[in-house]
Amino acid sequence: MDEHIAPDACIFCRIVSKQAPAHVVHEDERVLVFLDIFPVADGHTLVIPKAHATNLLHTDEADLAAVIACSRRVAAAQRRVLDPDGIGVFQLNGAAAGQTVFHYHMHLIPRRQGDVLQVHSRTPGDPQRLAALADQLGGAMTAEG
Ligand code: AMP
Ligand code: ZN
Repeated sequence: MDEHIAPDACIFCRIVSKQAPAHVVHEDERVLVFLDIFPVADGHTLVIPKAHATNLLHTDEADLAAVIACSRRVAAAQRRVLDPDGIGVFQLNGAAAGQTVFHYHMHLIPRRQGDVLQVHSRTPGDPQRLAALADQLGGAMTAEG
């Protein structure tokens, strides 16, 4: 379960350093929030520590605390913007658990009553919708403080 990769080979590190694009919702000194490009639901959001760490077992405790505190703010913004029936919060550790990007991250997935529980999608999100949502969710996070 130690899928270590060099940060310059890590897509999420490349997003943190702005070498790769993302629909960024929010950032602070420790965490970055952006939309999943293969959303399993409208508003599927990822929260990551800016510092590279492979998974839960390798992530600094202060970063874990920052990610979960920020995740609650993202959930509040999702509730305000999207009014879902529920919000799934989860993260995967190791390829055997389904992890595909080996930089620790939390998924926040707005859910509707009756939705089939799905972890990954192969359908890319509509770029215009992702851009609009990133703005709306970021605005709601700023407004809620
Ligand atoms: P996991 O399977 O838990 O490692 O989740 C990785 C997630 O990252 C998947 O839901 C992917 O759709 C998502 N993902 C991969 N590359 C990118 C990217 N460049 N920008 C945004 N999301 C991504
Ligand atoms: Zn990384």
